[in-house]
Amino acid sequence: MSTTPLLPTQLLEVLSRSNRATAIYTTNDIIIEWANDAMLAFWHRDKSIIGLPLAEGVPELKGQPFIGILQNVLKTGTDSIGEGIAAELAVKGKLQTFYFDYEYRAIKNDAGQPYCILHTATDVTEKILNRHALKKARELEEAQKRALVESEQNLRLVILQAPIAIAIFRGPTYIVETVNARALELWGRTETEVMRKPILEAMPELEGQGIKALLDEVYHGGKSFSFTELPVKLTRQEKVEDTFINFVYEPLYDANNAINGLITIGTEVTDQVNARRELETARENLKLSIDAAEMGTFDMDIKKGTMYWDDRCRELFGISNHNEVNYEKDFVGGLHPDDRNRIINIIDNQVMVQAISNGDYDVEYRTVGAEDGKTRWVRAKGKVYFEDDGTPRRFIGAVLDITEQKHDEQRKNDFIGMVSHELKTPLTSLSAYVQIMQLKAQNDDYKAMPDTLDKANIQVKRMSTMINGFLNMSRLESGKILLEKQIFDLVGLIADTIAETMPASLSHHITFAPCTAIIINADRVKIGSVISNVLSNAVKYSPKEKSIHVACQKINGMAQVSITDQGIGIDQQDTQKLFDRYYRVENPNHKHISGFGIGLYLSAEIINRHNGKIWVESKLGRGSTFYFRLPLG
Ligand code: ADP
Repeated sequence: MSTTPLLPTQLLEVLSRSNRATAIYTTNDIIIEWANDAMLAFWHRDKSIIGLPLAEGVPELKGQPFIGILQNVLKTGTDSIGEGIAAELAVKGKLQTFYFDYEYRAIKNDAGQPYCILHTATDVTEKILNRHALKKARELEEAQKRALVESEQNLRLVILQAPIAIAIFRGPTYIVETVNARALELWGRTETEVMRKPILEAMPELEGQGIKALLDEVYHGGKSFSFTELPVKLTRQEKVEDTFINFVYEPLYDANNAINGLITIGTEVTDQVNARRELETARENLKLSIDAAEMGTFDMDIKKGTMYWDDRCRELFGISNHNEVNYEKDFVGGLHPDDRNRIINIIDNQVMVQAISNGDYDVEYRTVGAEDGKTRWVRAKGKVYFEDDGTPRRFIGAVLDITEQKHDEQRKNDFIGMVSHELKTPLTSLSAYVQIMQLKAQNDDYKAMPDTLDKANIQVKRMSTMINGFLNMSRLESGKILLEKQIFDLVGLIADTIAETMPASLSHHITFAPCTAIIINADRVKIGSVISNVLSNAVKYSPKEKSIHVACQKINGMAQVSITDQGIGIDQQDTQKLFDRYYRVENPNHKHISGFGIGLYLSAEIINRHNGKIWVESKLGRGSTFYFRLPLG
């Protein structure tokens, strides 16, 4: 270090030890007279620059104001102090900006003339840079805040104008901060009723519907929720309404990423849900009705030429598989030959012609089962839908099995014929006897009268039995048949009934297995008519000379009566139907046997009303046993 005569050596010694960067300059050239290590470190130079003008030792300072300021300090003797001043200094050949607090102090001689400058400096680069960074950060924050406010304002605008319900709740009590018209409409509230109020207070009906728990999960748990068709009860205009709402809950975060509220977006879908439910119910009902009515359905796409038949429809055409069905093969081919032309003619020339039928289809036909060959009666009702130009597009409808109905109709017709015939027979006899008596009376032959009157009486009895049968049936069907129960011995009743029936069955031998009294509580007259009916059937449907066996016993806490004949017997498939109204076994061999098919029907009704049971066991050609059981008295 070169010492300067200008400053005392001790002082320089002190300065050189100082941590504070220090340099001394002289002359207008600003010769670096002295600089301590700290100052050299600032400059990133070594001691070799001491003795050089500052502009040479640290040439990058040339374009900067410092040398000029130093010259001015020396010239004027006025100190210069700067804080946080930027200086560009070369570090390994590259300019870098540093910041310094500095003092240029003019050292004056005794005459008051400045003769050197004491330069002290502190590197405040870090402080300044921090300050800059801080400022930048603040500016950024401000900008973000502004952007946030702006975006919040935009969001508010978007929310307010949105065509779906949106609301924002803030804070743990879910205060309504923003709500749009759609949301108000959905909630059934005015803005003043909800704004800035906790939502659960503004809409107390939400309590108990789990909404609070949801809000809490969003607010405290940060969860998002999305619901479809959530049922919510809302009070609108003081009326509680069941609504369905699709909605989402999303948490909202503050600048510190903490949840401070939530947004809910929703649409009411009550009408849609109700409409859909109604449709589902209607469909369900339709299906139920179709099922209950045992209807089958068909649907034909006329343009594509495809056809759909459900299971029931297939059944009516005797098809058990699920293969594709075809109009020509399955429908036309499945029609009974006697009905085919008529039906095809109706479909082609009426149903498919809009101007003639407007597409309405309502026909009855027979089918011949494709697999079972069975003949079934079908009623088909449907409609053809047309294009604007009148071409048929679709043909749909329902089919119903009316075989039983047709048979019933047939039976009814037969029945009426038979009733007329049966009632005519005793009437004819009666009028014959009356004529005989008239003739005899004219001839004063009164001896023949009692006999003829007896015969007339039998015919009157026959007719009144028949008429009573019908009366009983009509009473039964209008629910007017009443049981007049009493305690009596069934065995006695059987014996009495056999005795009454005997005269009519002199031709048959009736045996009654002896048994002890069986006491029951029942309508004696009606049970008597059941026994009489079964007994007279046994007589009617078994050849003369054959015996009929009646038995009676207690079984499983019930009284059981059985009447066995050795008659024509009954085919297995008929045994169930015997007890149906008007049912008579179709058999050309016993067409001559009179009857209406109501005796067993009435008997079964009477037994059932006593909580009993009636049935038959039979072998065709071998005979039958009719049983009935009644609860013991
Ligand atoms: P109906 O007046 O025709 O005899 P029912 O109701 O008493 O009427 O009987 C119904 C049908 O049951 C009869 O038409 C007959 O075909 C059959 N049936 C009844 N009892 C017997 C029997 N003991 N043996 C054979 N067939 C019988």
